[in-house]
Amino acid sequence: MPIQTTNPATNKVVKSFNEMTEKQVDQAIDNANSTFSSWRKTSFKERATLIHKVADLMRTKKTELAKLITLEMGKVFAQSEGEIDLSANILDYYADHAETFLADKKLNPDSGEAFVRSSPIGALFGVMPWNFPFYQVVRFAAPNIMAGNTILLKHASIVPQCAIAIEDLFKEAGAPEGLYTNLMISGKRSTGLVEDVRIKGISLTGSEGAGASMAEAAGKNLKRSVLELGGSDSFIILEDADIDKTVEMAILGRMNNNGQSCVASKRFIAVEAIADEFLEKFTAKIASLKVGDPMDANTQVGPLSSEEALQGLLDQVKRFEKAGAKVATGGKRAFEEGAYMQPTLLTNLKRGEPTFYEELFGPVASFYKVKDEQEAIDLANDSPFGLGGSIYTKDIERAIKIADQIDSGMIFINSPTASQPDLPFGGTKRSGYGRELSEQGIHEFINKKLIRVS
Ligand code: NAP
Repeated sequence: MPIQTTNPATNKVVKSFNEMTEKQVDQAIDNANSTFSSWRKTSFKERATLIHKVADLMRTKKTELAKLITLEMGKVFAQSEGEIDLSANILDYYADHAETFLADKKLNPDSGEAFVRSSPIGALFGVMPWNFPFYQVVRFAAPNIMAGNTILLKHASIVPQCAIAIEDLFKEAGAPEGLYTNLMISGKRSTGLVEDVRIKGISLTGSEGAGASMAEAAGKNLKRSVLELGGSDSFIILEDADIDKTVEMAILGRMNNNGQSCVASKRFIAVEAIADEFLEKFTAKIASLKVGDPMDANTQVGPLSSEEALQGLLDQVKRFEKAGAKVATGGKRAFEEGAYMQPTLLTNLKRGEPTFYEELFGPVASFYKVKDEQEAIDLANDSPFGLGGSIYTKDIERAIKIADQIDSGMIFINSPTASQPDLPFGGTKRSGYGRELSEQGIHEFINKKLIRVS
């Protein structure tokens, strides 16, 4: 895949970039490795000063950075601004809390005195996707830089200007060379870097395929890894849910980021008693969404990230139809120009068909009517993925009991799964392993070193 900015609203190539040479990559790894020796000795206060500065710069440049996001991957502009705010908040959160999270932990052994010290492990290699080009990077980089590790970052090939902008923010904030380095390389060169002894840990957010190949390389080289992969979150609506409010949540859950979120609500599962009412209102709402220029303040759904992504999704919808699904609304490309998909609702999907188990990464919802709560739980769990999910009811105790029975990393009650700095984020099954954000996110690439005094 060439490294270039292509505006998905027009499908026109805006700017192309050269890949780094082997020699440049080698130098970058060397810098990250040698900077680790000095960075690990800095105080939390010094680290926090730098990270707060990156956050401040991000806020000062919010409009410019948000425009880059929208240009490169088509996010509706107001949501791009929201992504910059969230990213700055994550930076501040770790700058404020890392020292407490990583404080020595005193033990009470039978004999002697002992404690566990949290030590950084070295240069880490992150591979990140385009769908939240700032947020995905920051949730990996902020905790690890605060912990004393250094970062090499290979970003998705379609967001090179966002990738450069992030590196520039660190430089402008005064980061030493090698603390945060953007690696301008293609996806297929990523796995080769895993075996480099100077790299101590791997984090990938992206597809199952990319995750599996990085995990294989990490396993072979006995390195720690964190994988945040795909999802097909269920959205369960029970008899007592407020249907109008739930429809609003369903639109937010499915259509945010033009439908391209790992934790988007993808499978809408309604119990019989309210299924028809929900379906009618949800279909009407989807059909009424305004699709268009992501820079236009009235737009609700912008283009997909690329023409290739659009073609992939159109092909998926065709295959779903062949397998018996019905298109309740949408299903087609929205305009001749640009990678726009009509917001779509599919019904009649059959459990057991291979298509049922696929992730739909775009503004395409699937709907299921089930007999009761138990069938809703069974259907929710009938997925290779286990990332997030949500449940809609007035009965919170009942919802918590249902949450207990769903195999996923996160369950939200009465709102779609979302991300915030102080809540752990991650999945189970084929959605990956490890956690990001919150206190848990800072412990992934840490040596829990025992120190015992006799
Ligand atoms: P992708 O193709 O896997 O790309 C993600 C990153 O991996 C890019 O930087 C890509 O580089 C790189 N890459 C591609 N093939 C690789 C390989 N064989 N080895 C190593 N790196 C490789 O993902 P995508 O399709 O663009 O993104 C959508 C997927 O990511 C969806 O499944 C979505 O659910 C998932 N996702 C998960 C989370 C989460 O937190 N769980 C968040 C966002 C997205 P190039 O761009 O150069 O190919």
